[in-house]
Amino acid sequence: MAKIRPLNYFLPSQTAGYFFQLAGIVANTVHGGIYESGFIYEYVTRMRVMLHDGSIKVIDDEKDLRFWRTSFGLLGLIIGLEFELVQRPKLQVYTVPERELANWSEAEFWRYINVDAAANVPPSTPGLAAPTGFQAAASGEFFLNFGLDDLLGSSMLCVATRTGENATLPGIPTDAPADVVAQYEKLMQHMVVVKDDGLEPYGTAARKMGAPPLQFSVEAGNSSFSIALGPGGLPVPLNVLLEDAGTFLEGDSIPLDLLSRGLSAASLQQAPGLMEYLRKRVNDGFWLTESPAALISAWFLTPDKAFQAMDFLRSQQHASLKRQKQGENHFIWNQPAEFRFLTVGDKAELQVVSPGLHFNSEFLSFPDVSGDSQSWKRAFKKVQKILGG
Ligand SMILES: Cc1cc2nc3c(=O)[nH]c(=O)nc-3n(C[C@H](O)[C@H](O)[C@H](O)COP(=O)(O)OP(=O)(O)OC[C@H]3O[C@@H](n4cnc5c(N)ncnc54)[C@H](O)[C@@H]3O)c2cc1C
Repeated sequence: MAKIRPLNYFLPSQTAGYFFQLAGIVANTVHGGIYESGFIYEYVTRMRVMLHDGSIKVIDDEKDLRFWRTSFGLLGLIIGLEFELVQRPKLQVYTVPERELANWSEAEFWRYINVDAAANVPPSTPGLAAPTGFQAAASGEFFLNFGLDDLLGSSMLCVATRTGENATLPGIPTDAPADVVAQYEKLMQHMVVVKDDGLEPYGTAARKMGAPPLQFSVEAGNSSFSIALGPGGLPVPLNVLLEDAGTFLEGDSIPLDLLSRGLSAASLQQAPGLMEYLRKRVNDGFWLTESPAALISAWFLTPDKAFQAMDFLRSQQHASLKRQKQGENHFIWNQPAEFRFLTVGDKAELQVVSPGLHFNSEFLSFPDVSGDSQSWKRAFKKVQKILGG
């Protein structure tokens, strides 16, 4: 990004955070919720690979690339990549404000997506009986926080981008900051706490083990907790706090359910600050640099099934709270639902979905406050049975 962002070049699709290795997101099913783009591997034009016998080859024939994209490491090691890039002279990153839905219904759900978030989901999409909007957004990552039970409302928030002639929102930057290269360097060098390894530069930690834990710190002269991704604060990895909270609360059902729902609400509240942090420094469409340890299962559905999928998760989340109260098990869904849209092409032999527009629902939870590992596995398996069936 430090090379291409100053020239306004971008990958046609990109993840929410920086913390993956490029080979890992090309050998797998990874995307960035850009309405008109597909999986990141679709934009690979050449690869340098190492075969089982140690020989190194450059793969540039489309027939061979189809096998290496989404190859899950089965064919050999990808050790170099060439991508198609797109130029985006104007890019706006922003959050569509969190809003409580007037009621839990398919129309209200789509009103937030299409009207509030100006999603680029064509009104002609099969099976979509939904309020229509301006379709001005280039991407949208949606978060949906279900209330504690059927009586409390659900709220939604979206981290979105706009590009080109649609990048007209007042007061939101469109360009790379003048010092963007220096800012990338600072991001790579800022210190984070990694469990068992202590303080390390962010770049080293991310290369070694992926997303460093989300860091909180108490800043000098400021008694409240704040996210301190720059110098000045003493970072404390959120994973450690969550693990401690999980251990402390184990067996105590009342605080655990409150904590779980609190974490869901906090994820929505934190998103604007995280987005703003990177927008100010690099304005490149990424908005996450760190993450607590997270369990994620992602399912690709046609958009007409979007509400049904979220309604199913809502019922599962409410049921997990009820069961906890009855002392039946220790798993409570503790994160909002997350979802995005993408338009998949036809570029890989092992592609998991057919070409076209897809709704990608992501069901997630933090494991450290999710009870024992069997209870969260049972809950995720239920989702798999319904959405993957
Ligand atoms: C906090 C968080 C946020 C996420 N956000 C997104 C998102 O925005 N969009 C999205 O689609 N997904 C997202 N994911 C999922 C993520 O994209 C996948 O887990 C991805 O595979 C991670 O890549 P990695 O670099 O960690 O690779 P790994 O998990 O290490 O590997 C992934 C696959 O690639 C293979 N592989 C790895 N390296 C090579 C290599 N050199 N050569 C050949 N094969 C290789 C592995 O064998 C494996 O099959 C997120 C995950 C987390 C934890």
